[in-house]
Amino acid sequence: MDYATTGKLVIVSGPSGAGKSTVVWRLLEVCRLPLKLSVSATTRSPRPGEIDGREYHFLTVEEFLRRRDNDEFLESKEVFGRGDYYGTLRSETASGLSQGKWVILEIDVEGALAVLQQHPEAITIFLHPGSMDELERRLRLRGTESEASIQRRLEVARRELAMMDRYRYEVINDTVERAVREICDILQANRGEPS
Ligand code: 5GP
Repeated sequence: MDYATTGKLVIVSGPSGAGKSTVVWRLLEVCRLPLKLSVSATTRSPRPGEIDGREYHFLTVEEFLRRRDNDEFLESKEVFGRGDYYGTLRSETASGLSQGKWVILEIDVEGALAVLQQHPEAITIFLHPGSMDELERRLRLRGTESEASIQRRLEVARRELAMMDRYRYEVINDTVERAVREICDILQANRGEPS
């Protein structure tokens, strides 16, 4: 099937703790386009409040690797040092695209670059809090991370920010509602673009 003639892929990346998930969930509620969130697979443990199949498909390492060997991922990665895997299941994107949906991938920079190689037409948006200080403040506010985890995420964020110019759009997440409106406007402006 030629997915390029049907739906669109939208990639949203940005430092962990920038409020990406909140923005994406709100976008799904308010933006009047046929949006669908791609639910990634991960081997990390669910955080309080996270539900299997909603935030992630929570898999065992064995199941993840079995599916990876079976070529079920559009992209996948191992977060070194933690032994956690993350990946985008082909089934998540293919079903939405074939129905003409705008499938949103909330993935990291490495994953975004891998998807772009296969789908150069994807709309790429980099969402960030404006400064490293602000990011650190938000990570601490979340209160779910250990100090080591915060330091690791800040280090990853520094590297990710350096890759921002690979994205078509940069959005500052100063307030959720404003960022959502800006992203929705960006998507609306791409409606006429060939996919
Ligand atoms: P968290 O553990 O905080 O939910 O996510 C950690 C990081 O993994 C975030 O930067 C998030 O964007 C990224 N991530 C989530 N799902 C995927 C995925 O399917 N593929 C890749 N490459 N990264 C992902």
